[in-house]
Amino acid sequence: MHLFVPKEHDSRETRTALTPDGAAQLIKLGAEVTVEAGLGEKSGFPDALYENAGARLTSDRNAALQAASAVLQVCKPSVADVALMKEGTLLICLLEPFTSFDVLDALEKQKVNAVSLEMIPRTTLAQKMDVLSSQANLAGYVAVLTAANRLSQVLPMMMTPAGTLKPARVFIIGVGVAGLQAIATAKRLGARVEAFDTRPAVEEQVHSLGAKFVKIDLGETGQTKDGYAKELTEEQKELQKAGMAKVIAQSDIVITTAQVFGKSAPRIVSRAMVEAMKPGSVVVDLAAETGGNVEGAQAGAEVNINGVRLIGAENFAGRVAGHASQMFSSNSVNFITHFWDKENKDIHLNLEDEIMDGCLIILNGALRNEMIRKARQA
Ligand code: NAD
Repeated sequence: MHLFVPKEHDSRETRTALTPDGAAQLIKLGAEVTVEAGLGEKSGFPDALYENAGARLTSDRNAALQAASAVLQVCKPSVADVALMKEGTLLICLLEPFTSFDVLDALEKQKVNAVSLEMIPRTTLAQKMDVLSSQANLAGYVAVLTAANRLSQVLPMMMTPAGTLKPARVFIIGVGVAGLQAIATAKRLGARVEAFDTRPAVEEQVHSLGAKFVKIDLGETGQTKDGYAKELTEEQKELQKAGMAKVIAQSDIVITTAQVFGKSAPRIVSRAMVEAMKPGSVVVDLAAETGGNVEGAQAGAEVNINGVRLIGAENFAGRVAGHASQMFSSNSVNFITHFWDKENKDIHLNLEDEIMDGCLIILNGALRNEMIRKARQA
């Protein structure tokens, strides 16, 4: 395997797909690793560390893309980058496969095989390769710190000679990986935390973190076999809004993290619900990049609605780029190691393995995932 790790195509991306430690592990396996000069400059990993780890450095990105047998990066490549890759190259990254159809077209045309890290099954065995989880965990943490930073109050209760300050009320909507970390972080800061999710299985996890679960009867909701939430009916969405309105109005911080896999994020907080909050309160929409849970949220921006600060998250994991890169790199190295063929010193695209079968979405110029095919045709 001649692995190349280019700098990210989107210059705003701060994370790095492979750390020097990760490079050393892959070289030990038998891979040849080349990284683009300056790869880790935004995440705290200078070129010298990659060289010390045994990686080759290059400033000629195009030549390296042409020569590589595998390419690892955090986010999807540009169509122009794909056009440089040779037939049979293996691309590993977060491909955004439900929306990035131009890149999928280019990969098919170029016959570049592609692993979409989003499609790794959420199984116990695959947990160590699960980039969605590692990055969502950090995003949940950053969401709370960002909200705390913009709130006009403190989070913990404070009893002082000047009087007693009540603990802030924090409401977390959507208790997947990001939501659980948000609950834990807000609790550590001393807030009074409530949470809601449409998956009933979550209630116990919320309690185990010392938070209160807000009960709203939506009728049958459930989850898919992979543990993802099912999309609600319009009637259920209205019931949910009515049930949450009072809790939102009483909250100092609302953090929304709700996602439905393969679809736009559900719109669950209306502008009127935000307007009903006290001035000085904060709403953070962690789903702002995938459609937004909150009406009016804009990814990467803070909007003021009647004195309430509505923050649309954009790459929150990237705000702790060092740790985000460390976890992304570790997930990627675990993935490659799991499929490593010692004899050929290369990754084995073993379709008998449910992890590879799930995440290798393009092989020999053809898309091999039905859910993505349907989204592309829609
Ligand atoms: P996600 O990012 O897809 O969604 C975030 C949360 O939003 C979910 O908990 C979902 O139920 C919730 N949600 C959806 N619609 C909602 C609505 N209208 N109102 C309120 N909440 C709503 O979730 P995720 O963090 O990727 O986790 C998905 C599932 O995968 C969970 O069951 C999680 O425990 C599981 N998981 C398993 C593993 C593993 O076993 N390896 C790893 C990670 C996650």
